[in-house]
Amino acid sequence: MDRSRRSFLALAATTPLALVAGGAALASDVACDDPASLPLSLRNRRKSLGFVEVSPDAARRCGLCAFFERKQGECGTCQLLSGGPVTAAGLCNSFAAKAG
Ligand code: SF4
Repeated sequence: MDRSRRSFLALAATTPLALVAGGAALASDVACDDPASLPLSLRNRRKSLGFVEVSPDAARRCGLCAFFERKQGECGTCQLLSGGPVTAAGLCNSFAAKAG
């Protein structure tokens, strides 16, 4: 087996584990608020918009949305959620890509 094929196989064998580990780290690092402590109106608004803490699509997430305003790190607020807290990794059904 040549070196490039061996390198490719080694990379292919480890990549899924790295992605899973990275996804788990992302999911645990994006908590900008305690959803249980949010006002009922905001929790209901999140539910009505289908909000999820971690988007399944890296190209469609709060951090890339026109309604997102970054505050600190991966944490920000959403105009459609009355300025309520969201993470840059989140997503809802009203996602609108930022212009430009
Ligand atoms: S509209 Fe949806 S996707 Fe956009 S920032 Fe608000 S919660 Fe995130």
